[in-house]
Amino acid sequence: MSYAEDEYLMLSGIQHFEFCRRQWALIHIEQQWDDNLRTVEGEIMHKNAHDIYFTEKRKNVIVSRGMPVYSHELGINGICDVVEFSRIAAGSAEIKGKGIKLNGREGLYIAEPIEYKRGQPKNNDEDLLQLAAQVMCLEEMLCCDIQKASLYYGEIRRRYPVEITEELKEKVRKITAEMHQYYKRRYTPKVRRSKSCNACSLRNICLPELYRYHNAEEYIDARLKEN
Ligand code: SF4
Repeated sequence: MSYAEDEYLMLSGIQHFEFCRRQWALIHIEQQWDDNLRTVEGEIMHKNAHDIYFTEKRKNVIVSRGMPVYSHELGINGICDVVEFSRIAAGSAEIKGKGIKLNGREGLYIAEPIEYKRGQPKNNDEDLLQLAAQVMCLEEMLCCDIQKASLYYGEIRRRYPVEITEELKEKVRKITAEMHQYYKRRYTPKVRRSKSCNACSLRNICLPELYRYHNAEEYIDARLKEN
């Protein structure tokens, strides 16, 4: 399967989709958004990480910020916060045949995407899936295998190496295929109340509480009794 460019969906939507299918549909199909502190802080951090198209060199590492990426196979595009290209030491047996050439640069390099997150590591796969999708885009664009990728968490200022397993990649393929099906049908799933609702940036738009009641009258009645 290969998607045309005008069918691409946002790579960053993968984390929304994994968090809650309805949240993804509200944002990406219905274009609803409600900034809360969590999302605003996240955006500021990403802006700092991006500094669009900025590239710097440290010893044998070229750091590219805000690198646009895409995948025809997955039908997604987006931006990598940071991609580090490390020059392979001449004659290195470990990564022989896996290096890539960079325009106007001597030698061969290996790529490592680093995704910046505001908080702390989570108990779910949202961040891992987004990073795996970035890896898959880079592998397709650069015709290479990527061995390493990392997540950086702002709250604890730590960078974690992540192994991008075949299982994780398969999950990305399934999720992106499902996202395309929803998008084609303009389908927004109904509310399914879960623990995620408490941390959801769209809680005020989605109003999951309403779905506990049969109608608005019942809801207003219950709220009046609470007060
Ligand atoms: S409030 Fe709950 S059901 Fe509604 S979009 Fe957010 S997580 Fe999903």
